[in-house]
Amino acid sequence: AKSDGRNTYHFFSQEMRRISEKQLLISNHLRYALAKNEISLFFQPKIDITLNQITGAEALLRWHNPELGDVPPSEFIPLAENIGIISELGAWVLQQACNEAMKWQGLTKQRLQVSVNVSPQQFRIGSLLKEVKKALTVSGLPSDQLELEITESLLLQDSEQNLSQLRDFADQGIRLSLDDFGTGYSSLSYVRRFPLHILKIDRSFIHGLENDLNHKVLVDAIIAMARSLNLELVAEGVENKQQLEFLRQRGVRTIQGYIISPPLNPEDFRKFLKNEHQS
Ligand code: C2E
Ligand code: CA
Ligand code: CA
Ligand code: CA
Repeated sequence: AKSDGRNTYHFFSQEMRRISEKQLLISNHLRYALAKNEISLFFQPKIDITLNQITGAEALLRWHNPELGDVPPSEFIPLAENIGIISELGAWVLQQACNEAMKWQGLTKQRLQVSVNVSPQQFRIGSLLKEVKKALTVSGLPSDQLELEITESLLLQDSEQNLSQLRDFADQGIRLSLDDFGTGYSSLSYVRRFPLHILKIDRSFIHGLENDLNHKVLVDAIIAMARSLNLELVAEGVENKQQLEFLRQRGVRTIQGYIISPPLNPEDFRKFLKNEHQS
């Protein structure tokens, strides 16, 4: 039994070393990824299912490295935070997203929103408002067409400072969306304190919804909560008709997911807009 334990320990530490070596390798590539043009931004349409109209898109990072292949954002964003380049990366995302959104004008009748994910670390560093204003000025995008997607963890940590920063954004006319709602710990009373406009139902609650009573109950609770707070709702990760109909029946207007479209490169997104216009 003793040697078993040691083997387990051995295996474990080897495994851990391998993970950290892999992360080190990824981090080393990540430092130069922007400069080497390996990073791009994709856009996933958001649709109003009552009007059957596009309302905007969420900007999502993509990274292709010749050696590592495609690295998903869930893997490299935490590393970007660790090695201290999330601000630089985040500023790049903001500028690209606003620039692209300007190109959408004229391709469709609607005033489209662009949503940008911001990591809690970008708030902590404190230059986010300056970077947002710069991206808007350089691109010429009106501030009410920019949406920032923040996560629950931001509301939980150091809330007074984050609260005042969020108020600054709201005062600028920028819309704030609470992403991944329900996956953390925020309560109704907590969320109420923040100047939010939109609540996003996390895709983990939508996934398998049609066969899972617990998920249905949870989604109903989230919808009721958003209504009581006067927040708009967006459901993400909608993949099939049953999920869409469930949401429609409950009056959720805006959805995002593979049933409409996966995230698209900028050119394909513009084609998506033109096709929508024709139909
Ligand atoms: P998120 O903000 O919750 O983004 C939604 C994720 O769901 C995206 O994954 C999107 O591609 C995926 N998705 C969309 N529709 C469907 C669907 O119908 N089914 C399923 N299974 N998935 C769907 P992605 O692009 O891999 O991004 C993962 C996470 O990485 C994002 O989660 C976000 O937290 C983070 N991320 C991506 N881009 C950025 C960025 O520019 N800045 C920051 N800070 N985080 C980002
Ligand atoms: Ca998001
Ligand atoms: Ca989410
Ligand atoms: Ca997320």
